[in-house]
Amino acid sequence: MQTNLKYLLVSFIFLLTVFAYTQNPVEKFVVVLDAGHGGKDPGNLGSGFKEKDIALSIILNIGKALENHKDIEVIYTRKADVFVNLFERGKIANKADADLFISVHCNSFHKPVYGTETYVLGTKRSETNFNVAKRENEVIFLEEDFEKHYEGYNPNDPESLIAITLMQEDYLDQSILLASYIQDNFTNKLKRHNRGVKQEGFIVLHQTYMPSVLVETGFLTYRKEGIYLNSKKGQQEMATSIKDAVLKYKENINFESVSDLGQDDEETLVLIADTDNFFPDITFKVQIAASSRKLRTKPYNFKGLNEISRIKIAKTFKYYYGATSDYEKIKKQKDEALQKGYDSCFIVAYKNGAQITLEEALKSTSN
Ligand SMILES: [Zn+2]
Repeated sequence: MQTNLKYLLVSFIFLLTVFAYTQNPVEKFVVVLDAGHGGKDPGNLGSGFKEKDIALSIILNIGKALENHKDIEVIYTRKADVFVNLFERGKIANKADADLFISVHCNSFHKPVYGTETYVLGTKRSETNFNVAKRENEVIFLEEDFEKHYEGYNPNDPESLIAITLMQEDYLDQSILLASYIQDNFTNKLKRHNRGVKQEGFIVLHQTYMPSVLVETGFLTYRKEGIYLNSKKGQQEMATSIKDAVLKYKENINFESVSDLGQDDEETLVLIADTDNFFPDITFKVQIAASSRKLRTKPYNFKGLNEISRIKIAKTFKYYYGATSDYEKIKKQKDEALQKGYDSCFIVAYKNGAQITLEEALKSTSN
């Protein structure tokens, strides 16, 4: 009888834990919209048009359209003609734990070139692209104490860009996916000249920890394109193309809220309670990664695995797959993680919220 009571008690605690895991309200898909420049930084002034105003108008149009979707939350880095530094823009996106970051700009060049291009932060760089990034990055000179925020980064030095481009690699695939949808829409729906999806070291993209793109909607210096981008029609059409690309992206990245973990584990509790593999007061997980970067616990960040949980220990985020008291189940989940390519994953054990060694966990029995 006493054993039964004890068992009931630990089961209850266990169910509370499971409950805590599954009580993630349905998360919205969060999009941060970033209108380039603003305030004392006008951006480029090709053909007499103002990049900062055109970028803002396009951004506000995108936001208005996305806000019609109940499962999407839109956050703006600026909604008016104000100066926001690049560091702050990234901070806004990270604080919101956003799913996407989209920065909108207009291009300029001293030769008569035109067309649209969308950038992701990456290492496949070229000199031409470096010049675009250099120009967009130079805004940091207008920022007070920029050295503090960008750790000695110098926009005039291509080498200092290489170091910063490595940071967004986790999101390269998703960023390229969105960038290609945007370019496809510009090209196929609007018949704009396609200059392609490109990689470069934009500081504003470096500051974020989610898939991020920077859209150069066209060249203000090319008068005909400048007139189009400066028109209401042009701004609305560009916005619609970007909005449609976001919706397509959202459908395609397997946006799921965190798992049906609870149900599985309750079943496990009932079915496996009597077997040797069940440790009612222990939670096993598979540690798959540790990083200084905070990632959303979405399947697209973890090679398609769901049931991901995240814990912050000191300055490190640890990422786990699965959560169960069934040792056989966690061993299977570890095999799954190995198959997905998490070669150095391993099983960890928690008792009353504290990590214990696997050996201790396996020795413990509540019978
Ligand atoms: Zn710009």
